[in-house]
Amino acid sequence: MKKHNFSAGPCILPETVLQKASEAVLNFNGIDLSLIEISHRSADFVAVMDKARALVKELLALPEGYSVLFLQGGASLEFLMAPYNLLSTEGTAGYLDTGAWSAKALKEARGLGKVEVLASSKDKGYNYIPKDYNLPSGLDYLHCTSNNTIYGTQFKDFPETDSLLVCDMSSDIFSRELDFSKFDLVYAGAQKNMGPAGTTLVIVKEEILGKIDRDIPSMLDYQVHLSKDSMFNTPPVFAVYVSMLTLEWLKDLGGVKAIEKINEEKASLLYAEIDRNPLFKGFAEVADRSLMNVTFTLTDDTHKDLFDRLWNDAGISGIKGHRSVGGYRASIYNAMPLSSVQALIDVMQAFEQQVN
Ligand SMILES: *Cc1c(COP(=O)(O)O)cnc(C)c1O
Repeated sequence: MKKHNFSAGPCILPETVLQKASEAVLNFNGIDLSLIEISHRSADFVAVMDKARALVKELLALPEGYSVLFLQGGASLEFLMAPYNLLSTEGTAGYLDTGAWSAKALKEARGLGKVEVLASSKDKGYNYIPKDYNLPSGLDYLHCTSNNTIYGTQFKDFPETDSLLVCDMSSDIFSRELDFSKFDLVYAGAQKNMGPAGTTLVIVKEEILGKIDRDIPSMLDYQVHLSKDSMFNTPPVFAVYVSMLTLEWLKDLGGVKAIEKINEEKASLLYAEIDRNPLFKGFAEVADRSLMNVTFTLTDDTHKDLFDRLWNDAGISGIKGHRSVGGYRASIYNAMPLSSVQALIDVMQAFEQQVN
């Protein structure tokens, strides 16, 4: 039997998607060639790119004027591309520092212009989302990280700002309904909730581009990629195809609205057990708990070996916490079935019985 995969990323994908992807690697669309050995300019692959783009627009209900790109370099390259395209040499970018990924994002912006950290939750090991802070006006953009994969915190409301709003949604895109008209640039590495590693989804409001005075290298220039429909150079065909399959799966399931309900159900079951069971303690502040990454610790570490043995024996994989936080992290992305969450809860209850 396949394991219950709680990996934080690369993460679980739907079984039917893996099946179709493996078939396409051998014989794509019945053309007796592999998906990964045909030209990205062939009609068969261009149709994949078009479909993937259309599904993103449809599933997220993107307003007019927003474009979708499939790039490479991961969310980590977007940390650099965002300031390259939006931060003028005299301007200032504001960052909300809610974890290691935000900190890496703001590091890349430094040197391209002025960067201000407007709020940070570093004082408490990033276990919350800062709420009371002042946002100056006139920033070139404000950057936030919607879901903090390592700590299990998530923005429930986004800052109101008159500046451009840039958001790293790597680990919660397609997990809940959001009003995308509030955002100007959104990016997400595929491998958390959309597909395999190898492509990065970028959603950009086209009118914000081309406004600054910087020479942008072609590969870092959103306008170059837009003008070539994500095919300025060879796109990551396999990653785009598997992302397309995952988005089709999501659409068949009822779209983002339907998956949001399921995600809420999975998360509330697991958090309820963490709160009920005296052997566990949640890491993130309750109001800021993520629906995607559930972080917790043992209240008594002397039982660690027993708990680790129990979940291992139950076929559970990938719940070790990030090395910087310790404890445990159960990532319950879109493709994780409720039955796997239940399997983990069963282990937590069996653990309680054995300790007592
Ligand atoms: C994983 C992750 C990243 C890094 O993504 P790469 O695609 O590996 O560069 C950035 N931000 C967040 C929130 C992440 O979870």
